[in-house]
Amino acid sequence: MSDAALNYYELLSVSMTATTEEIKAAYRAILLKHHPDRHLAQRTLDFDLLKTACTVLTSPTQRATYNASIIQSAHKTTPSPHRPAESVSLNMFSPQEDFFVYPCRCGNAFLLDFSDIDAGNHLLACPGCSETIRVDYEVVDE
Ligand SMILES: [Zn+2]
Repeated sequence: MSDAALNYYELLSVSMTATTEEIKAAYRAILLKHHPDRHLAQRTLDFDLLKTACTVLTSPTQRATYNASIIQSAHKTTPSPHRPAESVSLNMFSPQEDFFVYPCRCGNAFLLDFSDIDAGNHLLACPGCSETIRVDYEVVDE
C-alpha cells in the first residue's frame, strides 16, 4: 500500500472513463456486497467516503474538478530516472474532454492534458504505481 490514498475511481473500482451509470452501478454493488446486516463481521467500509466518491463522480462539474486534482497530483509524482520509459503513441490514448487517458497495468491511468502538450512534456508518471511512460506526439505550431 502506497502512502497515496485510494482515489475515488479506485474506491469504486471503476475506470476514469466510466459512465455515470457504471459508477452508480458500481456504488450499488459495493453497498450490497458490504451491507452491514449481511456481513456483520466484515471489516468496516468507509461508507461516507464511498458516498462522497459516488456523488462527486456522478456530477459532471464535480467530476471535472476532481479529475483536474488527480492530474495535478499526478504531476507532482516525479518520473523515476532509474526505469526506462516505455514509449506510447498519443494515438493509443483515449481522448477525454480536457485530457487524454492511457490505462496503466496497475489499474490506474496515465493522464496527459493539453498543458503538457503545450509545454512539450513527454514524460508521464502513473499516479497509482509511479510507472513512467514517454508519450510520442508531434508538437504542431499553429
Ligand atoms: Zn500504474
